[in-house]
Amino acid sequence: MTETAYIALGSNLDNPQQQVLRAIIELEALPDTHVTAVSPWYSSPPMGPADQPDYINGVAKLETTLPPLPLLKALQGIESTHHRVKLEHWGPRTLDLDILLYGNQVIDLPELRIPHAEMATRNFVLFPLADIAPQLVLPDGISLAELLESCPPEGIVRHSQGGIRGTTG
Ligand code: ADP
Ligand code: MG
Repeated sequence: MTETAYIALGSNLDNPQQQVLRAIIELEALPDTHVTAVSPWYSSPPMGPADQPDYINGVAKLETTLPPLPLLKALQGIESTHHRVKLEHWGPRTLDLDILLYGNQVIDLPELRIPHAEMATRNFVLFPLADIAPQLVLPDGISLAELLESCPPEGIVRHSQGGIRGTTG
C-alpha cells in the first residue's frame, strides 16, 4: 500500500545546500518511492555545540510502498553515502534524514519513533513542513497550525522556493 511520508533533511557540513539537493535525487531513486513535494530551504543556527556552521533544513514529501523500518534503513543508507560520520551528539553532520510522519501511523520502537520525537518543538522542521502541508493533522489529532502557534520562527531564515514534482511523471 502506498503511504505518504514526510522526511526532514538537515546538513551543516561540506556544502550543505548541495548535500540536501543530492539527497532529494537519492530519495527519488529509492525503490517504490516518489518525491512529490520539496519545501523551501531554511537556514537555522545549530542546536547543541555552537562552534559549528549553520544548518540547511527542509522537508520532503514521499509517496512510498516501503514499510517504515525498510524506509529508515534506506535513509540510513543515503546518509552513509554522504560520508556521514557521527562524532558527537548534535554535532555537525553532512546529512541527517529523519522520518517525521508515516501516514497516520504511531510507531514506538527503540530504533524508530513516529511521529518524530522532537518535531513538535523544532521550528526548522515545522515551518518547512507547513510550507508543503499546511492542513496537516498529526495522528494524535493536533494540527500543525496549533504546533506552530507555540513555535515562533526565531533564528530560522527561509531562503529559497521549494519545488513540486508531479506524481505521474
Ligand atoms: P538525530 O537525533 O540527530 O537525528 P541520528 O540521526 O544519529 O540523530 O539518529 C539516531 C537514531 O535515531 C537512529 O539510529 C534511529 O534509529 C533513531 N530514530 C528514532 N526515530 C527516528 C525517526 N523517526 N527517523 C529517523 N531516525 C529515528
Ligand atoms: Mg537522524
